Amino acid sequence: MAPQLTSFVSTKDLDLELVQQLFLRAEKLKRLRGVLSSHEKALEGDTVANLFWESSTRTRTSFQLAAHRLGAYVVNLNASESSVAKGESLEDTIANLRALGCRFFVVRHSVSGKVEQLAQNAGRGTSIINAGDGTNEHPSQALLDAFTIRERKKNFDGLQMAIIGDVVRSRVAHSNMYLLSRLGVKIRFCGPKQLVPEKFDVPNASMLESVDEAVKDADIIMVLRMQREREGRILSLSDEEYRKHYGLNGKRMALAKPDAILMHPGPIIRGMEVESDVADGPQSVILRQAENGLFMRMAIFEALRGDRG
Ligand code: ASP
Repeated sequence: MAPQLTSFVSTKDLDLELVQQLFLRAEKLKRLRGVLSSHEKALEGDTVANLFWESSTRTRTSFQLAAHRLGAYVVNLNASESSVAKGESLEDTIANLRALGCRFFVVRHSVSGKVEQLAQNAGRGTSIINAGDGTNEHPSQALLDAFTIRERKKNFDGLQMAIIGDVVRSRVAHSNMYLLSRLGVKIRFCGPKQLVPEKFDVPNASMLESVDEAVKDADIIMVLRMQREREGRILSLSDEEYRKHYGLNGKRMALAKPDAILMHPGPIIRGMEVESDVADGPQSVILRQAENGLFMRMAIFEALRGDRG
């Protein structure tokens, strides 16, 4: 039996049996269009706090809608509107929201490792959910990505995936790498040398210098946005050079398998990492990823709720 999930911070050690259960549950929820009768709503009477200390469109909305569909009240806070702006710590904010009855905290934070630290110190009956911590991880994105791949490709084993762009600063790339490599996907990374890691601590991952080589015969192409808001890497390429060397266009897409899918966690910067004709083309599953996020996040909430009293 898969272990009971208490908080959800990383895909690194996520139990693979639990992952399969989440796939099956998200599939069922998708068939139901996320509509549950009141006795099936796992979070009826619960309160979920969405604490987004960094901007978000898809992730915040998707967690909010998922919680609503499961019957929860949702409170949304961001750093500038909360007492953090007056100097309160995030830990104290959480303690006060707990006093108000919040039991689920969906947290996005710019500091890598912050969400894990909150989870370690969370009291009994409190679940902390990582909605993206700095450059570290974005585990719910990886699960919805894997779910989207499974929907289109059925099996993971032996699939070839190219992940292109700002890999070192992408929490999406990290969570995907930890999860998909364990599911048997072979990952080829490619990007400017300042933006790709020197080594990987997972099996099935390699680095290629040319995008054309990375996408050749790939089953899945995932394109990443340049994380300009994060410091630490100085890129010597101009936008035009980046687009020329690393941007995904129709010519490059044609090098992949004919049934290859194009993924991007969003937000997409058209004309930079991806051209509009491929982003909106028949192989793109970018909006399907966004759609699937709702069902996967409902499944994650349910798994966290478990049979907790
Ligand atoms: N939305 C994703 C994240 O929050 C990807 C990105 O911002 O580029 O990490």
